[in-house]
Amino acid sequence: MAEKMRKNCSFCDTAIDEIYRTKKVGCPSCYEVFKDEIRKMLIEIHGVSSHNENILNINEIDEMLYLKQRLARAIKEEDYEEAAILRDQIKKKEKSDEKTRR
Ligand SMILES: [Zn+2]
Repeated sequence: MAEKMRKNCSFCDTAIDEIYRTKKVGCPSCYEVFKDEIRKMLIEIHGVSSHNENILNINEIDEMLYLKQRLARAIKEEDYEEAAILRDQIKKKEKSDEKTRR
């Protein structure tokens, strides 16, 4: 009954215990699934909430990869409304990435 919320990432099936242990996430959507846990973990590791960190860098999620994964899933599930939205976001992001690149 003292069972803690035991959830797994729906993409790579990584559990939070595993992330705690390895200090690594399985895939970009882990950040989404374990957002709060990961933030807590970062504070535990660094004492503060830092974003100068290579592992578990919550502020620099590979957002593009994440969006693309979600898009692929939306298409697979034939959720074309969601797919259209995601496609839009990806396009927007591609544009802003180009801008920041130079
Ligand atoms: Zn994952």
